[in-house]
Formats: sequence, C-alpha cells, structure tokens
Amino acid sequence: MQAEKKDIRALTKEQLRDFFVKSGDKAFRGNQVYEWLWQKGAHSFEAMTNISKSTRQMLEDNFVINHIKVDVMQRSSDGTIKNAVRLHDDLIVESVLIPTDTRTTACVSSQVGCSLDCKFCATARLKRMRNLNPDEIYDQVVAIDNESRLYFNRPLSNIVFMGMGEPLMNYNNVLKAIDKITSEEGLGMSPRRITVSTSGVPKMIRKMADDEVRFKLAVSLHSAIDETRTSIMPFNSTFPLADLREALEYWYSKTKSRITYEYVVWKGINDQRKDVEALIRFCKFAPSKVNIIEYNPIDDGEFQQAPSDAIDMYQALLQQNGITVTVRRSRGKDIDAACGQLANKS
Ligand code: SAH
Repeated sequence: MQAEKKDIRALTKEQLRDFFVKSGDKAFRGNQVYEWLWQKGAHSFEAMTNISKSTRQMLEDNFVINHIKVDVMQRSSDGTIKNAVRLHDDLIVESVLIPTDTRTTACVSSQVGCSLDCKFCATARLKRMRNLNPDEIYDQVVAIDNESRLYFNRPLSNIVFMGMGEPLMNYNNVLKAIDKITSEEGLGMSPRRITVSTSGVPKMIRKMADDEVRFKLAVSLHSAIDETRTSIMPFNSTFPLADLREALEYWYSKTKSRITYEYVVWKGINDQRKDVEALIRFCKFAPSKVNIIEYNPIDDGEFQQAPSDAIDMYQALLQQNGITVTVRRSRGKDIDAACGQLANKS
C-alpha cells in the first residue's frame, strides 16, 4: 500500500533542504521549492518551472500541496468581497476583503465553525468542526492580497482575525501563520498591521504576552457586567470578567500595546447608563479604546440594535472619561459578509 503523501507545506525550510540533501540533490533546491510554495504561491509542482522535470515528478510522488481554493467570490455594492474557501477535505470557511479609501483589510477565519456559543453570532451555530492549519490561514491572506491588487491596484494593508472561529483556541497555528505573513520569506507584513480578535480566553492572553507577540489585540467585550455578558456569551461563566481583566492588565504590562474592545449595543440588553459605567470602570484597568460596532441581524430578531440615542450616550460618557471611542458601520451586509454573519450560506 502506498503511504499517504505528506503536505509539503508542513515542512520548514530546513526540513525541505534536508529532504533534498537526503535524496542526493543540493540543499539549495529546498530554497527554490520553498520560494515557490511561499512567495510565489504555487498551487502545483508543475508550476515550478526552474526545477527539473524529474525533480518535479519526484516531489509529486512524495508530496501534495494542500492549497485552498476560492470556490465562490461575492462582491458587495460597497466594494466588500467575500470568499467562500474550500479546504482540501471539502470543508468551507469564509474570508472577507474590506476596502476603504486608503486601505484594504483582510478579515480571515481561524477555525471551521466555532466552539464558542455567542448567542448573537451566526458562526456559533455551525459548531466547531476543526482548526485551520497555518497554511490554510496564510492562503486566505494571499488570496485577498491578490484580489486587492487585481480590483484595487494596491496590496493588502491590514489583517484582522475576525472571521470564523476563536483564534486563541487555535493559537499555535494562528501564530505560525502570522510568522509566515510577517516574515520576509512570506508577505513581509508588519505585525502592527495585524489584529487578533478574541472573545477573551484569559490563559491564552497571558501566553501571548509571555510570547511577546507584536500584533494587536482586540477583545469582544459587549458587556462589562458578568451577568449580562454570561447571558449573551455563555463561556463567560468559565472565564469571568475579573480573570479577563487581570489577563489584560498583564498583557499591557508586558507589551505596552493598547487593547481595543469591540462592543455592540443591543436594545434591552446593554443599553443603560449602568452598562456604560461598568464599561468605563473596566476600561480604566489597562489603556484601551472602544470600538462600537453595528449589530448585523442574523435571525429571528431576538437581538436588536439599540437606537442611536443609546449609542450617543455611550459615546458621550466614554469621551467624558477620556476613553477613545469609535463608532463603526458595517460593510458587506448585502452578501452576509459583515461581523458575525459568516455561516457558509452560499
Ligand atoms: N472569535 C473572535 C473573532 C470572531 S467574531 C471574537 O470573538 O472576537 C468578530 C467580531 O464580530 C467579534 O467582536 C464578535 O463579537 C462580533 N460579532 C459576532 N456576531 C455579530 C453580529 N451578529 N453583529 C455584529 N458583530 C458580531
């Protein structure tokens, strides 16, 4: 029986060089193939034109390239693009390109589905099927970089891990993908242009701080009152706000990197003065800013966006307390590409 072929992109550059030396070739061949895989984004061995035919055949006999495939690309009237991406085992994830006048942001997925159970998020209903590999995350970024060049004549400028999944539940692979994205042998992007968004897993936030990562951190807070937060994000009962707060203080003490809190204001849930006051107290523990995002309805209307006077109250009180606040409108709603809407509908 033939052994199952290995995914060549699971090898490091060193391992690839070793492989060539062991098969009687030069280590340098490893560099060439590595460059094809990571810088030139080759989807097949055949495409590696400066490698001899016999070597390409030998690679074909030993390895596969598990490249993702953009199955469906949808374009929104506001320019947003959503990719439905097929993985080698036929599972699908989604990623989104968000253009503004000056930037192109990629919003990428870290898991197929999600293990968390946020009541307001469409992805939560899919449950978690599996973690993405580092190259599956990297490929989503490359696909969007290519689309950005093609449709907007500029390279990708920013990345947010705000697609499907909880990045800190797939931390090692997310970190490997970011290493590749930021390395000169990959896309050479600055880590300061990358934001990892989490629902707040305290242990992993501490780990990130210890690892001295250089990307930015966003936390989906939505409420600074335990009872309320647990009712909309049930895992909060396992990781209560006091633990999260301590982890965030630790993060700031180690990284000196300001935290962004993502926050949706819902009617009847967190639209009162006491909710804002709790948020203000929470924000005082570590330098932070608040990003109020619009609610994107996903269903039967259990959740509703609070009216604008509630948002105005948040904005005014936060500002009075010296906390930076931005209010952001959603993009790509007409193609279900906005925050919390990624659920493989197409
Ligand atoms: N699991 C990570 C990243 C994915 S969610 C996290 O929780 O941060 C990306 C952002 O979209 C989060 O802030 C999330 O709370 C928010 N979100 C989820 N569903 C939403 C919805 N229906 N409308 C608006 N934002 C939503």
